[in-house]
Amino acid sequence: METAGQPALNVLQSIFGYDAFRHNQQAIVEHVISGGDALVLMPTGGGKSLCYQIPALVRSGTAVVVSPLIALMQDQVMALKQLGVKAAFLNSSLSAAQARDVEQQLEAGQIDLLYVAPERLLGERMLSFLERLPVALFAIDEAHCVSQWGHDFRPEYQQLRILHERFPSVPRIALTATADKRTRIEIIEQLKLQGAEVYLNSFDRHNIFYAIAEARQAKQQLWDFIQNQHANDAGIVYCLSRKKVEATAQWLSEQGRIALPYHAGLPAELRAHTQQRFLREEGIIIVATIAFGMGIDKPDVRFVAHLNLPKNIEAYYQETGRAGRDGLPANAWMAYGLQDVITLRQFMQDSQAPELIKRVEHHKLEAMLGLCELITCRRHALLAYFDEDAPEKCGHCDNCVNPPENFDATEVAQKALSCVYRTEQRFGVTYLIDILLGTDDDRIKANQHDQISTFGIGTELNATQWRGIFRQLIATGYLDIDISRYGALRLTEKCRAILRSEQTLLLRKQQDRKATTKAGKKQASVRPQDEKLWEALRQCRSDISHKNGVPPYVIFHDATLQEMCRYRPKDLAAMQRISGVGEQKLNHYGHVFLEVIQQHPLSELLNNGLSDTINDTLLLHEKGHAVDAIAKQRDLKLNTVYSHLAEGINAGLLDVKDVLDLDSAEIEAITLTIESLGDKSQSLKAIYQALDEVYDYGSIRCVLASLY
Ligand SMILES: [Zn+2]
Repeated sequence: METAGQPALNVLQSIFGYDAFRHNQQAIVEHVISGGDALVLMPTGGGKSLCYQIPALVRSGTAVVVSPLIALMQDQVMALKQLGVKAAFLNSSLSAAQARDVEQQLEAGQIDLLYVAPERLLGERMLSFLERLPVALFAIDEAHCVSQWGHDFRPEYQQLRILHERFPSVPRIALTATADKRTRIEIIEQLKLQGAEVYLNSFDRHNIFYAIAEARQAKQQLWDFIQNQHANDAGIVYCLSRKKVEATAQWLSEQGRIALPYHAGLPAELRAHTQQRFLREEGIIIVATIAFGMGIDKPDVRFVAHLNLPKNIEAYYQETGRAGRDGLPANAWMAYGLQDVITLRQFMQDSQAPELIKRVEHHKLEAMLGLCELITCRRHALLAYFDEDAPEKCGHCDNCVNPPENFDATEVAQKALSCVYRTEQRFGVTYLIDILLGTDDDRIKANQHDQISTFGIGTELNATQWRGIFRQLIATGYLDIDISRYGALRLTEKCRAILRSEQTLLLRKQQDRKATTKAGKKQASVRPQDEKLWEALRQCRSDISHKNGVPPYVIFHDATLQEMCRYRPKDLAAMQRISGVGEQKLNHYGHVFLEVIQQHPLSELLNNGLSDTINDTLLLHEKGHAVDAIAKQRDLKLNTVYSHLAEGINAGLLDVKDVLDLDSAEIEAITLTIESLGDKSQSLKAIYQALDEVYDYGSIRCVLASLY
């Protein structure tokens, strides 16, 4: 029996250049090919578009893809054309003549995938035009836009139900990357997808490392993070205000990075230009308000940093989700502080929204704060928020890697809370801390607050530590901020139990700065011995992308270039086995990339199966660096460097004479001593002593490695 599977797999391999389907792509693709409706929930970077692109190519006729964003449509069509797929779009960016041209191609059956904006599709002219064509399927992308509760609501999306009435026999597939239970139900109802198969994927973005730090000197913390982990990478930094966007972009530029500001207050042309640069050039940092990101489908954004608290977990997930769409390691990093909470509360208070909405927003902010102050796994909490079960520990977030410490904060909390009480809940954090510390201050004296019992009772902590305590008390709901009274703190019902010592309170210990910057180790893109080739391949890709006027990732993703480095294909047949190299790209670019690979052969020394860290040392040795210089550069102990070199000697890649700064007679002497020791030569210490402690352990280790 002929199944839908084989033709689909053929398309996946020959056109897209991938060996196998991921997640539940295969089931979805087969279901749609056989004519069924589907609702697909897949996280960004999960390979969502393949779910309709492959059925579009297997089924006869043209597939119509509804997409809300013009930029996104253009990107998709451009990428498909690179793969040799006949794709086009119809939207307001085309002239009348261009649109007519597309329509003619459609009538001639020359287009497999047509991207169209919803308002265009819904016009009577377009609908009747499509009725005359063989339509392979309808794909409704970003289907959550149908939800009037969501932040991307598009009223036209709700009218898409008409497709069900006008084209009853054409399969429809709705796709989204952000949908909680309520939105899912809304999509099914609004689009009349009853009877559709629902495909739920995990919302886990396993390649993203989550870290949330307390803001101390946020800008410096941000720079440490970028410099240590993303020295050449593209990323997005989110700030709350336009002013902060401008200042941060400027500061990063002064540090030597290309950092461009992006916010709604900038002219439209400048914004478009900035976005283009971000897509087309490598290593650009965008500093933006939340206005940036929708419709950006750049797969190789390596980090998303927040210099302010997002207003809810949905926003945090969506914004951080823009990192690592290609599935390679990426970082979601945030620094937040007390001021963020105050500012966000202020925003909400000032907003014109109805009381009910304000209350919902308030709760959502609480949940976001909860995620920040969490002492357990961030990923677990994040997924739980989206109703998904996950292991207690993910091993890939700051709290898993560096578990924060708790301490019994009952007593300090009592001091803080009673200080709020004794000053009649009329003052903000800074003033309260001054009282706790017993600061000599005119305002305190004028208010006679130097007379109250909490004056000067908090000297066991410094001002920063007290801010941390207040922040946590606010985040966990023991204190409330009265925005109408300039950020005065109020006690909540919840703090009674603490003031009466009926409950102990555990709070998170302040992190020291080292710990926060250490989280999330830098992961190298390629093995050290492949670095030169990696740079050359990227350069080659960049040249081609400039020539063709498309972003580099449209030519090949980073993952594809990484595979080329590791497997170093020698001919076109081997090149075709690299993931992401389909027929069209093989024909167009195969030779060029093969040539680059040929020009960068692995040196004999580095062509080995030793670990990356050993090869890092060998590479520096090959460049002529001495042992102590290598140790310094790599921040390793001398002994470790010697042990790496010993591995190289042992593998027959290095000659001990080239490694050690000793003459042949000395090496001979060490050799003889080792041999004379017989069985005892297993012990480095025994050899060291037998040689009268003249030669260091490292040298002995290397000579030993040359003998066995
Ligand atoms: Zn975790």
